[in-house]
Amino acid sequence: MEKEELYGRLHTWPRNRPVVEGARVLSVLEGARCRRCGGRRRAALPKGESYCLDCLALGRVSTLDVLLTIEEPNDFVPGSKLRWKGRLTGRQEALSKRLIENAQASQNQLLWAVTGAGKTEMLFPLIDWALTSGQRVALLSPRVDVVLELAPRLQAAFEVFTQVLYGAQEEHYKYSQLVIGTVHQMLRFYQAFDLMIIDEVDAFPYRNNRMLERALHQALKKEGRFLYLTATPSRKMLSMANRGELVLHQLLGRFHGGKLPELTIHYDPRWRKRMTLSLKKSLELWYFEKKPFFIFVPAVDDLALLEKQVRQLAIGRGTTVHATDSERISKVADMRAGKYDYLITTTILERGVTLPNLQAVIMGGDDPTFTKEALIQMAGQVGRAKDSPLGEVLLFASGPARSIRQAQREIRELNRKAEENV
Ligand SMILES: [Zn+2]
Repeated sequence: MEKEELYGRLHTWPRNRPVVEGARVLSVLEGARCRRCGGRRRAALPKGESYCLDCLALGRVSTLDVLLTIEEPNDFVPGSKLRWKGRLTGRQEALSKRLIENAQASQNQLLWAVTGAGKTEMLFPLIDWALTSGQRVALLSPRVDVVLELAPRLQAAFEVFTQVLYGAQEEHYKYSQLVIGTVHQMLRFYQAFDLMIIDEVDAFPYRNNRMLERALHQALKKEGRFLYLTATPSRKMLSMANRGELVLHQLLGRFHGGKLPELTIHYDPRWRKRMTLSLKKSLELWYFEKKPFFIFVPAVDDLALLEKQVRQLAIGRGTTVHATDSERISKVADMRAGKYDYLITTTILERGVTLPNLQAVIMGGDDPTFTKEALIQMAGQVGRAKDSPLGEVLLFASGPARSIRQAQREIRELNRKAEENV
């Protein structure tokens, strides 16, 4: 194995095997806790040995192993790597400068920006500053869909080898200055990064997950800093900002000046049984105008019900997708490539998918699965692309619900604030 593959890593290695020269050897246990994930749940092996159950998904770490690491040396070629030639709006640019200033002052930061505010591009100057000064940078999301959307954009924007890391991937790990991956992958790093940017920090499965939170802190260098991004900050994040532990930035307008679409609410207790005439007409119109659409449903069992209803309309090609669907990644890619006219989906697609002219229907909007945050995020998928800022979000519910009222109020509030800020 190459020595540099151990830079800032936690690499599982058989206890009895000779160790790579220069590597530091860490025991797999810290007291009763797993060193990699901090978990305590263990399964027994013969002769009193055991392995960790909590991080088993990343490969088994047993007491027959040790963990190897080499202190991160930042062995990178200096100089700017930015080849992105786009332009930021005045407000984006001002904010982007503040992000750099605070990073220089070693502050942790929280950027609260509505979906479609052009967050990614705003990060380019910050990432370029960090890479130029020889720092190691990670851009992370709790969701693999978001990672897969961000990776090609980052690879196009920067002239530097970028390692992409997520669960189901075959590619061999290589040492790189810029890493894009899921938050889970940070369990394999140890004091590696000078700057860690965590997108959708409020999203499942990161939210309130102590293992992942610990993993992020373990992967960060002692003098490193975080930038958290969110469209819907949790109370915990906001109170950290209030206490001065985070510098809070707000960007509430969308970059094309468009607004978040308000929810068009219909009450229909029988939505699982049949489709209303008004919804049929909307779907047919979208198909006729070549506008792709998502239909969000609260549960996996609802996918087939809705698929049957939509198929009866004969409006192009579509499919269903859900969190544990093994073809999920390729289906989303096909939707992006225009091979489908619609996707019927559980909430997994609520973030990170940018499609021109996208429209959306939320079925069962009053279902407890759909929190206020989820409803705002789903609405945020519509009207994201610059050349098509208009879109509709139709919400069908069995009856009124607090989450719907709150989401509607917050969308109006965000639009109002955005207008004041222009
Ligand atoms: Zn573990």
